[in-house]
Amino acid sequence: MKEAVAGELAEAYDSRLIDQVRAADYHYTAGRLTIHLAREFGFCYGVDRAVDYAYQARRRFPGRNVFLTGEIIHNPHVNDRLRAEGIRFLSDSGERGEELGPDDVVILPAFGVTVGDMAQLSRQGCTLVDTTCGSVLNVWKNVIRYARDGFTSVIHGKVKHEETRATASQALKYPEGRYLVVLDRAEAASVCDYIRNGGDREAFLERFASAASPGFDPDRDLQRIGCANQTTMLMTESLEIGELVGAAMRDRYGADQLAEHFRAFDTICSATQERQDAVTALLDEHQLDLMIVVGGYNSSNTCNLARICADRVGTFHIAEPDCLVSASEIRHRPIGAPSTVTGLETVERDWLKSSGSLTVGLTAGASTPNNIVGDVIRRLDTFSNNP
Ligand code: SF4
Repeated sequence: MKEAVAGELAEAYDSRLIDQVRAADYHYTAGRLTIHLAREFGFCYGVDRAVDYAYQARRRFPGRNVFLTGEIIHNPHVNDRLRAEGIRFLSDSGERGEELGPDDVVILPAFGVTVGDMAQLSRQGCTLVDTTCGSVLNVWKNVIRYARDGFTSVIHGKVKHEETRATASQALKYPEGRYLVVLDRAEAASVCDYIRNGGDREAFLERFASAASPGFDPDRDLQRIGCANQTTMLMTESLEIGELVGAAMRDRYGADQLAEHFRAFDTICSATQERQDAVTALLDEHQLDLMIVVGGYNSSNTCNLARICADRVGTFHIAEPDCLVSASEIRHRPIGAPSTVTGLETVERDWLKSSGSLTVGLTAGASTPNNIVGDVIRRLDTFSNNP
C-alpha cells in the first residue's frame, strides 16, 4: 500500500517552503530576518516508517477498527491527523483494550510496547502492525543479551517514557534479568557511589522504587552491569554515564576483572545523534539572536535538542506554529522541565527584538513534520517583517 498512501502523506506532512530552504543551503532570508535551519531536523527514518505504516493500515483494513496503543510518535499534530483518519487510541478515555479481538487491528508505535502488552494483544488474536523502530530493536537485543548473561541493564532513560518501559520489560525475558533506569548524571553518580562504597540499601531502593525491576537488590544486582539507553537521550550524557559506571566497576572489581562485570554498547540512534550534531554545528557557525526548537513537549529528543541550544543562546521550545502568538507573545515549554509533565507551558512577552536585523536558528525534533517547520518559518517572517 506504500504507493497508495504516498500522495496523502506528502500532502499532510511535506512542505515546499522547506524544500526551498534546503535548496538554499538551509538559509531563509526575508527583510530583516535570516533563519538558519539545522542540516538535520524533523522526521527520522523510524517516525517516517511508523506514520507510513499507520496510513497503510487504515487503507489495508478498511472495514475494521484500527487502533494505536497510544501516541504513535510524540507530536500532537500527527496524532490528531491519525484520529481524523479514524484511527482510535487505546490511551484515550473510554477505549477498552482488553475487549479487542481477532477483528481488530492494532498498530504498535515506533518506540515499541512492553513484552506484557505485546503478549496480551497476541493472546487476544488482534492483527498487529508493528512499527517498532529498528534502532529500538537494537537496544532490546543488547538488553536481552545482558539478561541472558546475568547482567543488570542500567538504562539511561526516562522511566515513564514508552520506549524505556518497553526496553526495561525486555530485561525480564530471562529469570535472572534485572534493570535499573537512571535519568541523568546525578542518578548515575549515586549508583556509582553504591557500587564503590555500598550504603543505605533502603534509601537506594526508595530512590529507585519506580525505576528498578521487581525484587531489585542493589547488593546483588549491581555486581554485573550492562549499559543501555533510550535512543533519544542526550548522546554526550549517555556516553558520560557509561563511562561513570564503567569507572565505578573498575574501582570495585579491578581492571583485570572488568569484562566479567561491565559491558556497554552505544545505543543512541543515528537519527538522534545526527540531529544533536547538526544543531551543535549550527550554533558553532552562526551568531544567533535566538533559537526556536519545534516538537511535542513530551518528545524526549526535542527536549534534548532544546537543552543543547539553551546552553548557548536564548531558546524557545514550541510545540506548534501557533505558539508564535504575535511579535510580542510566545507560548513555550520551559527548558529542562520534566518531559513527563505534559501540560507545562508558559507565555513570554517581547520575545522578538523589534528593530534591526534578526538572526534566528531553527530545528525540530524527530517527530515533527516538515509542514509544521514550514509554518513556523512563515510566522517568524510575518512577525519579524509585518508585526
Ligand atoms: S528517534 Fe531514533 S529510535 Fe526513535 S523512531 Fe527515530 S530513528 Fe527510531
